[in-house]
Amino acid sequence: MRKILFAALVIYFPSQCMAWGLLGHRIVGQIAQTHLTTKAARAVKAILGNEDLAMCSNWPDFIKSDTSYKHLSNWHYVNLKGGLTEAQVIEQLNADTAANAYTKLNFLVAQLKDKTTDPSLKPMYLRLLVHLVGDIHQPMHVGRLDDLGGNRIRVLWFKDPYNLHQIWDEVLIDFQQLSYTEYAKAINFSTKMQCQQWQQQPREHWFYESYQLASLIYSDVKGNEDKLGFQYNFKYKALMEEQLLKGGIRLAAVLNDIFS
Ligand SMILES: [Zn+2]
Repeated sequence: MRKILFAALVIYFPSQCMAWGLLGHRIVGQIAQTHLTTKAARAVKAILGNEDLAMCSNWPDFIKSDTSYKHLSNWHYVNLKGGLTEAQVIEQLNADTAANAYTKLNFLVAQLKDKTTDPSLKPMYLRLLVHLVGDIHQPMHVGRLDDLGGNRIRVLWFKDPYNLHQIWDEVLIDFQQLSYTEYAKAINFSTKMQCQQWQQQPREHWFYESYQLASLIYSDVKGNEDKLGFQYNFKYKALMEEQLLKGGIRLAAVLNDIFS
């Protein structure tokens, strides 16, 4: 009886997760792996051993169950007010010194570049960096504080209850029924020009891009248990996939620079 009750609760209250799901992070990692320079690939292997960028990417979510890592829980996202210009977003990002995806991304890049960083900490820093670059490209990770990046906006995916954040973390991706390797292979196409443009844009701009996409996503739900399904998938699939691709290509650029 208890088991049935527990199962019913799990189904009724889907978890309030705060990250691309398993697949999203692995797709970003897998794409990045294919864009690494030989030097960077060697450096990554020296730090992670047989764990590649795809398989290390979920570690920051797995450790959430361990209370000794509780201090890392704010690292996955940034919340901003609605209606800001790019200049205002950049100003707020740089003014805020608290732990968030922006301040910690900068911290991780600096730590991994620093020759004096304790080598025993590098696997953790690298896993966190891979994860955060992924998270930043999930638009709802640069969402509003009052609804916790869409976690408080209830929607239906066909007949099942979810929140808007979860739709973007995993529901849309899982709906495509591809493994992460299949998915990475299917979308890993970019022109040299596109690639360069994405890689050269400053990190603040990644946040602004997601912020803008989040505004679009917010504007498309009434917040009244909207029914999402085939139409929603058709409308947003390409956008979601471009975010995954950008995330992977930019992650590679960051790592190529760190290990240059
Ligand atoms: Zn995350």
